[in-house]
Amino acid sequence: MPVLRNHHTFSLNAHCQELEVFQDASSAVSLCDRYPHHYLLGEGSNTVFIEDYSGAVLLNHIKGLEVSESHAAFHLRVGAGENWHRLVTTALEQGWHGMENLALIPGSVGASPIQNIGAYGLEVGTFIETVEMVDRASGNVVILSHDECCFGYRDSVFKQELLGKVIITHVNFVLPKNYQLNTSYGELSTLSDPTPHTIFEKVISVRSSKLPNPDKLGNAGSFFKNPVIDVARFNTLKEENPEIPFYNIGGNQVKIPAAWLIDQCEFKGKQTGDVRCHPTQPLVLTNLGNATGKDVIKMAQDIMAAVESRFGVPLEPEVRLLGKEGLVTL
Ligand SMILES: Cc1cc2nc3c(=O)[nH]c(=O)nc-3n(C[C@H](O)[C@H](O)[C@H](O)COP(=O)(O)OP(=O)(O)OC[C@H]3O[C@@H](n4cnc5c(N)ncnc54)[C@H](O)[C@@H]3O)c2cc1C
Repeated sequence: MPVLRNHHTFSLNAHCQELEVFQDASSAVSLCDRYPHHYLLGEGSNTVFIEDYSGAVLLNHIKGLEVSESHAAFHLRVGAGENWHRLVTTALEQGWHGMENLALIPGSVGASPIQNIGAYGLEVGTFIETVEMVDRASGNVVILSHDECCFGYRDSVFKQELLGKVIITHVNFVLPKNYQLNTSYGELSTLSDPTPHTIFEKVISVRSSKLPNPDKLGNAGSFFKNPVIDVARFNTLKEENPEIPFYNIGGNQVKIPAAWLIDQCEFKGKQTGDVRCHPTQPLVLTNLGNATGKDVIKMAQDIMAAVESRFGVPLEPEVRLLGKEGLVTL
């Protein structure tokens, strides 16, 4: 059975029934027809195979970058199997600016709209003009506009109505020439004379100092989403915990850093088997080498139960857990 350890960044020792690669839309459709029980995979940085998967894993290797220029913007059509960070680097080198805040996020371009990847005050949806995909049921090519993608915090139509129904083949980005640099967030606000290059370098240096490199220590980035709660609920929580950090995100809602909640429950550095809650960033769970899916589930459930019991706030995993038959919820 094909080994999945090198196909997901958490690097658990799982297998699948078949492992196939596609490089264009028509071979993707043929593979989906040949293997009705399958899972589409980009670079596996948001997927944790917690046990052997009984279906076929289909790897997206659709490549290509086409660029056109209008009076006001650069327009990029990018193959879904391109690497995200490589795209950000190329864009910077070519003078197509704006995406620097999203440097060093692992994964494929095709997965970027799915959870609307975001960091340092920016989300990829800002730049997405359209997403090209194949509808699995009909085999038809469909193009969704920006609005139809329904981008939200780590969310989009691809995680809702279209979950498991489409294969994203290309993403079309628009990078306005008059784009205003975004340095509002965290360490970026300390840059005295920000340029796209200094933002890019700062993001890489801060991320490298805080987050474990999955090539050296298996992990899937933030294991949980930052919970969003309504203001009334938050006000009660703040009375009980005056030091609680938060971001007002409008619409009568407040986002709380999950890392702080987990830290308050003293999980930093805690271990279950070979899974450890990262000592400097408790939102990240790591594989110390021989972690099992059971270790991952136990640690995740313990964290969720502790946070819920202490703060009454439910945590929701940001990662996709894949079990024998498919997606698993905690
Ligand atoms: C160290 C680290 C840091 C991270 N930091 C961030 C961060 O700052 N911000 C952030 O938002 N995320 C972050 N992530 C999460 C991750 O980088 C993103 O979710 C990324 O977009 C996943 O890409 P992937 O190709 O690896 O997805 P995969 O894990 O391969 O797939 C994710 C999901 O998308 C589906 N999918 C993949 N490709 C396609 C396709 N072409 N068509 C249809 N469905 C598809 C898969 O079936 C799966 O359900 C981080 C991860 C790690 C390991």
